[in-house]
Amino acid sequence: MARSVPEDGVLVIGLGRFGSALAETLMELGHDVLGVDADPRIVQDHADDLTHVLEADATDIEVLRQLGAGEFGRAVVAIGTDLEASILTTSVLVELGVPDIWAKAITRPHGRILERVGAHHVVYPEHDMGRRVAHLLSGRMIEFVQLDEGFALVELRPPRQIVGRSLADSQVRSRHGITVVSIKPEGGAFTYATQETVPGPNDIIVVAGEKRRVEDFANLG
Ligand code: ADP
Repeated sequence: MARSVPEDGVLVIGLGRFGSALAETLMELGHDVLGVDADPRIVQDHADDLTHVLEADATDIEVLRQLGAGEFGRAVVAIGTDLEASILTTSVLVELGVPDIWAKAITRPHGRILERVGAHHVVYPEHDMGRRVAHLLSGRMIEFVQLDEGFALVELRPPRQIVGRSLADSQVRSRHGITVVSIKPEGGAFTYATQETVPGPNDIIVVAGEKRRVEDFANLG
């Protein structure tokens, strides 16, 4: 008989580097997590961290049915390297009727297949992290978060031309097409930015806007 699944339970299949970081963070956020991995050593390693951990081959629909996989509202397929296992596991979860399936893809073609078999969300951790690091590396950006295809939120040191004058005075919005959302004065805590805010050279600001405009702004001298 299927186990009874708590409402905020998440099924995480594959406890490699990505899956285990995800499962541990979900635990910290207060979710019940059932972790599944085919490797007994990995299952052993996580025995104390997660709500439940089971050794099983997730490509086998009968096995997943018995684990109560179909009772979960959310599941993550965190198998990347083994394409066949990733695709089969995703299709098994679709067949069991899990309503919110997240799957990790290594490449675009892999991701497209996962979408076709019915994954509701496909994530590309290596690709996304590569892009993020490129942004962090190439300018004064401290954090770069792409919120949408063309929209980004960036944490950075203020470019020289807006330092020492109010945001109203430097007209960042009309001149650069971005909005300064928050500011963290040197040694202080983050607070909302206003028209009167005067960024200092060692402050940190958070800026939102179209990706291109935000990148141009971050590359100002
Ligand atoms: P990462 O790059 O995040 O470490 P991997 O793809 O290398 O991801 O690891 C995926 C994990 O999924 C491994 O721990 C592996 O044992 C597990 N795994 C692979 N195939 C299956 C399967 N059929 N059923 C359950 N777990 C699997």
